[in-house]
Amino acid sequence: MGTSPTAFSTSATPVTLTDDDVTGALAEAAAFWAAQGPQYGAALTRLAGSVVVDVGDLVGGLVGYADGTVIRLDTAAAGRGWDPGNGGYDLVDVLVHELGHVLGLDHRQIDRLLGRQV
Ligand SMILES: [Zn+2]
Repeated sequence: MGTSPTAFSTSATPVTLTDDDVTGALAEAAAFWAAQGPQYGAALTRLAGSVVVDVGDLVGGLVGYADGTVIRLDTAAAGRGWDPGNGGYDLVDVLVHELGHVLGLDHRQIDRLLGRQV
């Protein structure tokens, strides 16, 4: 996956997810965006250290969402869990999506870029 151009902090207090899970996956998600173009790499560099991932119990069946530079993830991935091999969500995929929002992209732009990755 390459290396992350930036360092991120995390204030996660996970139950299902561990700090190591979140930190590693966030680095992979950042590497994905950095590989999409220099504008994303530059934006990530500006955001270095200010992106925080919070893990908690989200209401409304949400798996995750981005609020400014804070990414909130549901502890249990809205009941599906975080094991993609067992019907759950892929943490890196979700963080790529939410980090796209942090970078100011909407769903159409994110989906288009993700579609290219396949
Ligand atoms: Zn979204």
